[in-house]
Amino acid sequence: IIGVRYVSSLVHNKAYIDGGWVEAQSGNVFPVNNPANGEVLSHVADMCESDTQTAIDAAHNAFVTWKTTTAKERSVLLRRWYELVETHKTDLAHLMTSECGKPLAEAHGEVSYGSSFLEFYAEEARRIYGEVVPSPHPSKEILFIRQPIGVASLITPWNFPIAMITRKAGAALASGCTCVVKPAEDTPLSALAIAHLAHQAGIPPGVFNVVTSSRANTPDVGKLMCTSPKVAGVSFTGSTAVGKLLYEWCSVGVKRIGLELGGNAVFIVFNSANVTAAVDGLINAKFRNAGQTCISANRILVQSGIYEEFLSSLKAAMMDRLVVGDGAKEGVNQGPLINDNQFRRVERVVSESVSCGAELVLGGHGHELGGLFYSPTILTHVNKHMPCFNEEIFGPIVAIKKFETEDEAITEANCTNHGLASYFYSQDVSQTWRVGRQLEAGMVGINEGLISCCEGAFGGIKQSGLGREGSRHGIDDYTYIKYLCFGGI
Ligand code: ADP
Repeated sequence: IIGVRYVSSLVHNKAYIDGGWVEAQSGNVFPVNNPANGEVLSHVADMCESDTQTAIDAAHNAFVTWKTTTAKERSVLLRRWYELVETHKTDLAHLMTSECGKPLAEAHGEVSYGSSFLEFYAEEARRIYGEVVPSPHPSKEILFIRQPIGVASLITPWNFPIAMITRKAGAALASGCTCVVKPAEDTPLSALAIAHLAHQAGIPPGVFNVVTSSRANTPDVGKLMCTSPKVAGVSFTGSTAVGKLLYEWCSVGVKRIGLELGGNAVFIVFNSANVTAAVDGLINAKFRNAGQTCISANRILVQSGIYEEFLSSLKAAMMDRLVVGDGAKEGVNQGPLINDNQFRRVERVVSESVSCGAELVLGGHGHELGGLFYSPTILTHVNKHMPCFNEEIFGPIVAIKKFETEDEAITEANCTNHGLASYFYSQDVSQTWRVGRQLEAGMVGINEGLISCCEGAFGGIKQSGLGREGSRHGIDDYTYIKYLCFGGI
């Protein structure tokens, strides 16, 4: 494999099914590119529907024994998996930077974030408690126990190639479910490396499977993962359009579904904000992974009394701190966009917004390095009719609108079908409560731009999704409550 120099033992190009490395029955493969330079890193097995059926069968068989393991046994295995991910952190980070472009420091951060879910759910496995409920009859006792739902299909995106898998698989395995993972076609190598470490940790064959597929095969593979009678539930992170399709497919078999979909995060800076903190918070909330995260700040609302100061500080900070380039290079903190599609989308969002009247304060074009690099950009005078405000940008673009009153900001913030993350900066205690209560979002960063951690309950409202991942609530998608009524006492 060209370009992946540090990681030979972790690099696989076959799918991982039933504890073994498996080629596609067709022998077909698809290329994986380094977005920083277009280099082909590897060709990976292109699994189709019938290959995927093999993985689902393996997971279904493995569930028979995995569900009978004790919480302690599952906990020990997850803990071992966590320790192996930690041990191989540097290699995993290099591999991730190679295939998804995020700067090495961020890739390191993601490996830690990703492993934290395995550690957290190793601990949580032992606390999936039931309830004993006061009975209405002297001769009866009422108990609830939590049981694993069965095989879980996990479909994950390219922007967090490890963490989105461990966040789902950690909770699934802790609950006693087995799983089939379909990673994004841009980033299968990180997923296969994680499978390698699951194998080394002693996760039994069939409990954790990874099916890689090209974009062409993905709809068939995805449909089977949602409709197979052997699958009990689906967890998906990705675009709202695909999420709606999977939701529809899941309705056929009335499957469980957890959805983490697109956001259109608002970032509000009130007059009472600490400007330095707000600028730092926005740089964190906007420029992680070059703006390609579902909780990236998208619509920036700044109150008139602080607007000029905030804008000039932000512009200075962006020019001073953001270094665009190959994420594998020392000092770079803005990598390339993931692929041509994303690049063209970002170009369109900026050009259409400008032609609708947005003012360009910084950037606004592809970076001089060429390829998939885009210059950090500031647009002002934006409004809700522009794509930079009513679409998820997924790129290094800051779109700023001035506002006068708190009510106006709240109305503007909630005027969207999405409701994943939102952020605001204010030093006024009453205002922080008022605004925190009123924002229509599953997560709110208050004087904080980085909100992700395994302890947090991650998820959205409205069309941003269903269910929560991370925290103890992450277990809910993978368990059902069984009510036991003991009579004749
Ligand atoms: P993005 O636009 O960010 O790539 P997607 O929602 O397209 O987001 O991708 C997220 C995940 O969904 C990836 O693993 C991708 O392969 C998968 N995916 C895309 N289209 C489908 C589909 N029709 N059925 C099932 N999975 C899909």
